[in-house]
Amino acid sequence: MSASRLDPDVKAQAQELLDFIDASPSPWHAVATMETHLSMPGFRRLEESERWILRPGGRYYVVRDDSSIIAFVVGAGALAETGFRIVGAHTDSPGLRVKPNGPNRAGRMARLGVEVYGGPILATFTDRDLGLAGRVTLNDEHGTLETRLLDFERPLVRLPNLAIHMNRTVNEEGLRLDKQKELPVILSVLEESLSPRDRFLELLSVRLGCESAAIRSWDLNLYDTQKGAFWGPGDMFLADSQLDNLASCHAALVALLDDAALSADSTAVCAFFDHEEVGSRSMKGADGRFLPDILERIAFGLKVDPEGYKQALARSFLVSADMAHAWQPNFPAAYEPDHHAIVNDGPVIKVNANLRYTSESISEAIFMHLCEQADVPCQKYSHRTDIPCGSTIGPMASAALGIRSVDVGNPMWAMHSIRESAGVLDHTDMIEVLRCFFCSDAL
Ligand code: ZN
Repeated sequence: MSASRLDPDVKAQAQELLDFIDASPSPWHAVATMETHLSMPGFRRLEESERWILRPGGRYYVVRDDSSIIAFVVGAGALAETGFRIVGAHTDSPGLRVKPNGPNRAGRMARLGVEVYGGPILATFTDRDLGLAGRVTLNDEHGTLETRLLDFERPLVRLPNLAIHMNRTVNEEGLRLDKQKELPVILSVLEESLSPRDRFLELLSVRLGCESAAIRSWDLNLYDTQKGAFWGPGDMFLADSQLDNLASCHAALVALLDDAALSADSTAVCAFFDHEEVGSRSMKGADGRFLPDILERIAFGLKVDPEGYKQALARSFLVSADMAHAWQPNFPAAYEPDHHAIVNDGPVIKVNANLRYTSESISEAIFMHLCEQADVPCQKYSHRTDIPCGSTIGPMASAALGIRSVDVGNPMWAMHSIRESAGVLDHTDMIEVLRCFFCSDAL
């Protein structure tokens, strides 16, 4: 990748990533954004409730419950002999979700009660220009249920810090927020004529163009309305929300849409799941049936017999792509001293002997070889032995299918902050190596 480090295309590719994230303020929007990207090169949406007839070279995608998506290109070779090349990632990010009876009154103020989704760094949600996005289910005029995406596209709520005059020790002790009492966000000053709930329903209904009474339920998260940005000398770094893990989704999607992957021998698969941040155990999570179901349906749709399907699995490989922890020199004690992942030094192979990551010696070596083929540098990461390690969708997806896997990701700072940060060069490097993965004959 060294030759193209000076290429203006590298920055353009990073700008595409920021645009992709900024168009995706919730996991439901992320999937809608991906559908837009897939429609141009002629990917056809398949419904799980219908019979599939697939053809070699065909481009398809499947969405389950609006926020998990699997896109694939049927390989030119026989499935039983070429298998699946899968990149797995997740569409969700930790944050705050609006409770069903969230709108409430506190003195003269109307607030929204929120629940913590996954493990966000809560302090980073204070003093941000927070919007609301997600999906709302309503009864349309014919009495049937309809689900619509909703995005206010502007700051609507806020979690103001206490002034330092009322929290004198905040710089010594850090900002601690009581999740029940101190996280509800400010919506408005209370109005005499309207209850907080009616006020909130009115906001939703105006935005959706429906009657308040039609609104039945919602899945809504708070998000940072600040757009992504480049920073640092030469714009070498970028900052945005949800880099974990929309950056990996974007890299995999760009690689899949490359001509090389579109005409590869193996069947190339991008599998992006919701619910990773809360354990993945759901109808559309990586610890559910979504991926095994779809791989099986691909085999059925190609008229591959059950043994041929098992042969295909035995020849398959999963790259579990999720972000990695970059070295932050101000906090040396947080890192394993011999495994620093440096921003803009290339994709990271994540290794954990207790299988929080799937990487083992053979899959590590395979990914290193792919990096060499793609002319991309590569790093290795191990968590401190005395701090619990995070995990990814890799172990459960690999276990369910019985296929070899490696856990990789680009280095980033401030994972689970509302404003995360990473390297511009790494994004292009990850795209290059995933592109190579889909079409390399070295596997
Ligand atoms: Zn992640």
